[in-house]
Amino acid sequence: MKKEVLVRRVHPGHPWIFSNEVFRAFGDPSPGDVVEAFKKDGRKKESLGFAFYNPHSLIALRVFSKQSEFTPDFLRERLSSALAYRKSTLSDQSFRLVHGESDDLPGLVIDKYENGFVIQVNCLGMEKKKEMIVQGLNDVCRAQFVYEKSETTYRRLEGLEPTVGLRSGNLPDEAKISQDGLDFLVDIKEGQKTGFYFDQRDNRRRVRSLASGKKVLDLFCYTGGFALYAAGGGAARVLGIDSSARAIELARTNARLNHFDAQCSFETADVFEFLRQKKRTEEKFDIIILDPPAFTKSRKDLRNASRGYKDINLLAMRLLAPRGILVTASCSHHVFWNDFMSIINSAQADAGRRFMVLDRGTQAVDHPVLVGMPESEYLKCYFLQSLS
Ligand code: SAH
Repeated sequence: MKKEVLVRRVHPGHPWIFSNEVFRAFGDPSPGDVVEAFKKDGRKKESLGFAFYNPHSLIALRVFSKQSEFTPDFLRERLSSALAYRKSTLSDQSFRLVHGESDDLPGLVIDKYENGFVIQVNCLGMEKKKEMIVQGLNDVCRAQFVYEKSETTYRRLEGLEPTVGLRSGNLPDEAKISQDGLDFLVDIKEGQKTGFYFDQRDNRRRVRSLASGKKVLDLFCYTGGFALYAAGGGAARVLGIDSSARAIELARTNARLNHFDAQCSFETADVFEFLRQKKRTEEKFDIIILDPPAFTKSRKDLRNASRGYKDINLLAMRLLAPRGILVTASCSHHVFWNDFMSIINSAQADAGRRFMVLDRGTQAVDHPVLVGMPESEYLKCYFLQSLS
């Protein structure tokens, strides 16, 4: 008997169907199996397409295709079209190749580091396709290596343990990538997430265009993404701060690699403490970048997260020179644009300053946003100019 799941309700354009919307399963599907999902409407049954099924997860179904089962041909076609799209808009060889649901590959993230690949598997259905994915990357991209870093908290919700390791090829000691003419060393094994944050590409470019002659403070700098773009744009001085000593070590190496060691310096410190200490000095910055980690993993926690965002924005505003620019980001999809604007408004009131919006940025093109899936737009970045 075919494995089918009947559902009561769907959200148009959204690939997830939650467990309370599932009506009945037929053909005894196991957790992680591919099923065909149908919407039941009176006596009518309308196919919603093929989906990964996990009755133990809140997200019971993740639809990946209207017509096709998850076959090697289907996967190769998906990987090829994801690659073709990135190649049509980016000239570098390193980028996010697959951004989960946005590329119709639910629960799968693949970052491309020149010719090597780091994969992250976040749901049970995709976990069962892992060998096929590694093979697919070798077929479509002739991967130098495929390294898995499946460590996200989403896995626990799917009943999966974290897993990390080399899945094919040879992992070099150091991966060097190029972004807009800048070189970055990436620590694939020990680095955060898959190793590099490609999502800030457009916002870094904007910083580069604003930085000439400026004194720049890059807070939560990680391996120096914004800092190096600022230096590349002719910043007079750049200071980067991050609490991870390993990230700071790499940021320094990256500055040297691009011959920016004269302008750039980096310090290992907690940003909150750094900002509180700096408040008492006279030193001011022309551009301050705030790119913190997600302060909340749920909408319920929004109040606490708002306090964190407000504190750092307020403290940063106080360190900003007259007519200075604050580049402030939130990467939590639970903080919406209007929430973020309210937080900034409340911070500017306490700081006794006023700002105008110069620009607004989001995640770069290799992290597409899906119409009908608001969660897929997670990165918000305001470029604010102080009016005094
Ligand atoms: N701006 C970076 C990415 C930032 S990711 C880039 O362009 O690549 C968030 C960073 O915040 C991580 O590097 C993490 O080590 C750092 N971090 C988290 N909490 C921190 C804190 N309290 N103080 C300083 N850094 C912190």
